Amino acid sequence: MPELPEVETIKKQIAPKLPIKVEKVILSNVSDSIVKTKDYPLKSFTIEKIERQGKVLRFYLDDGRRIISGLGMSGSWRISNNPIGEKHTHVIFSGTNSDGDIHLGYIDPRRFGVMHFFNIENEADWLTRLGPDVSKPEFNVDYLLKLKKEKPNKVIKPFLLEQQFFAGVGNYMASEFCAHAGIRPTRRMKTLSKADLERLLEATKVVLSGTISNGGTTFSGGYQDAYGDKGEGVQNLVVFYQKTCGLCGQETVKKVTLAQRGTYYCPHCQK
Ligand SMILES: [Zn+2]
Repeated sequence: MPELPEVETIKKQIAPKLPIKVEKVILSNVSDSIVKTKDYPLKSFTIEKIERQGKVLRFYLDDGRRIISGLGMSGSWRISNNPIGEKHTHVIFSGTNSDGDIHLGYIDPRRFGVMHFFNIENEADWLTRLGPDVSKPEFNVDYLLKLKKEKPNKVIKPFLLEQQFFAGVGNYMASEFCAHAGIRPTRRMKTLSKADLERLLEATKVVLSGTISNGGTTFSGGYQDAYGDKGEGVQNLVVFYQKTCGLCGQETVKKVTLAQRGTYYCPHCQK
């Protein structure tokens, strides 16, 4: 599943190709399950800018509208000077940029992704359902202390997966954040001290800097970047899918299930 680092990689690859003057929009015959806003006039427009919030991409159009793209389980974007003929391509924006012909395609084999064409008001409505992006400055110790007060009984690891509080976090990242912070994934918010929360914040930075710089972590059957290349694979993980803890180098990693999701931790390093 594409998580924050993978989506950031896609954003960074598309951004230098903008602006793109779109002359043609091609939809697959099952694109209705992905494209949720149907009344958007698909005339020519220019994609001027791309941003990311959590796992969601936002394309800014010259007419003031936005395209919001959530990648679901298996969504990705491809950008190419050649027409995109890949299987499971559901939306293609074809046109030109400063280099000539350019094609931007949305590919999604399992079709859990969503796309909206929004005006600014609708977009604001929709974005209020997303919490602060965990790689941005608004995700800080004050914010974590506020959550501790408001949600004292939440169990930290499954809580980290709730996008309305922690935009961008997915399953492997949540396990890794807890590991680097030395926090058991089963701890409740109310048991975490300010020092614990400071370590958690530090841990998000450590994990994200590693995964963003190697182009996102890849799992089997999973993610490709905007050029169709596979990521570098599982590299910097210390507990997720690991046998031995990568922090202490000796303890056997334990696996438990929390809120139906596989959760990994080191009994020695995480208290
Ligand atoms: Zn350990």
